[in-house]
Amino acid sequence: MSESIENIVIVGSGPAGYTAAIYAARANLQPILITGFQKGGIPGGQLMTTTFVENFPGFPDGIMGPELMDLLKSQAIRWGTKLIESDADIIDINKHPFCIKTSDSSSKKIKTNSLVIATGASANKLNLPSESKFWSKGISACAICDGATPQFRKEELAVVGGGDSACEEAVYLTKYGSHVHLLVRSNKLRASAAMADRVLLNKDITIHFSTELIDIQGEGWLQTLKVKRLGSRNHEDIQVKGLFYAIGHTPNTEILKNQLELNKHGYIVTKPGRPETSIEGVFAAGDVADSEWRQGVTAAASGCKAALAAEKWLSKNNLASLIHRDLAEPASTPKNIPTEISDQNNFKSDAIWQKGSYALRKLYHESEIPLLVIYTSPNCGPCHVLKPQIKRVLKELEGKAQAVEIDIEIDPNIAEQAKVNGTPTVQLFQLKELKEEWKGVKQRSDFKNSILKLINQ
Ligand code: NDP
Repeated sequence: MSESIENIVIVGSGPAGYTAAIYAARANLQPILITGFQKGGIPGGQLMTTTFVENFPGFPDGIMGPELMDLLKSQAIRWGTKLIESDADIIDINKHPFCIKTSDSSSKKIKTNSLVIATGASANKLNLPSESKFWSKGISACAICDGATPQFRKEELAVVGGGDSACEEAVYLTKYGSHVHLLVRSNKLRASAAMADRVLLNKDITIHFSTELIDIQGEGWLQTLKVKRLGSRNHEDIQVKGLFYAIGHTPNTEILKNQLELNKHGYIVTKPGRPETSIEGVFAAGDVADSEWRQGVTAAASGCKAALAAEKWLSKNNLASLIHRDLAEPASTPKNIPTEISDQNNFKSDAIWQKGSYALRKLYHESEIPLLVIYTSPNCGPCHVLKPQIKRVLKELEGKAQAVEIDIEIDPNIAEQAKVNGTPTVQLFQLKELKEEWKGVKQRSDFKNSILKLINQ
């Protein structure tokens, strides 16, 4: 039997990846999209960790980043994209057809005639001691995405970095904040002269040269920056409500090293203004090949170009194997119905997923099977990623375990009692005893294995 070879595989699930998938699927190429899971951020990319996206055309009142990514994902699936929700562990483009090995349980090798790399770039962090505590609670990696949110309006803000991005963001933030502090670790700006001038001449920006950020403090929301000036032993405080990192990005290209032409910063080199890379049949889209614009809409546009270029390339080389659709119009996307909060009227002792404090109390005291308590918050992108994964595990376990979701905004006391300081947090209980706890997005198998261990005891 001959081995199956895909038309096109897309690696990455940000706006570039999903847009490439939408175009390839509508071209009847039946694309596979490897979403990524833990490497290089979370599925859905950087928009999953932002709040309101107000500059993506078509949403006059803005849209939450995770909601926008859900819509792009649904659109790609509706037209027939097959998703593999895992990381690509190996991408071998040294010979054609290209070969990809994923880290999902099947860990099958996928062969493909064309490839779109849309793995994005991760914003660099400072790794300050309290950074994770204040991430999205005052700290942001994108002033242009988050600057206008109400928490930052008419407040003092700070930007760390001395490059073009930092200067651009500092100027941009003066539109919203009452004053902007630019923290530069050296004694000069690295930014281009024109950009530096805009900052130097702006009376709403104070540049703190030779200043290192040591840590941050606040209660629930960022309040104080602890900084150290070069040559001084003492720490000083700067009071701000927002801190924006602009200390560069690292493209997610580690997996392609020595296989594809990369520039000295690790970004994929493409033909100017085009998606073709140094290897025929391999195309790049989004931030992984763009150190300059880095916007959702520019990433989406480059995903479109990559898919169209791949389609042309496959067809020119007689490699496209098109699917036939029985229906011209695919079915509409299913509506996402939010889970209702349980009370004495709708609580079901055997439901696998319920929400709220009533269900938690009942199941915690009365259920004898493993119980997952999932702490979430409404705008948390990683929670968005994690919930369907856990629901899949529970379905596979056919009622041998249950879950209750606690929205920490609705039930802050429960979260406090459970010592939850971030979302998503998942706690696994059996007979009122805490067996395990996970923070952040984890693989499905982590939850399943721990639950199975309890079931099989
Ligand atoms: P850069 O790499 O140019 O600048 C990063 C800045 O962050 C530098 O000032 C660097 O300091 C500082 N930095 C790095 N690590 C730390 C740290 N741990 N603590 C404190 N500061 C740190 O990145 P950019 O994102 O600014 O720019 C990337 C590219 O995109 C550049 O080529 C830029 O020109 C381009 N760009 C162009 C724009 C435009 O033309 N409109 C807008 C934005 C970007 P140090 O200098 O001491 O190393």
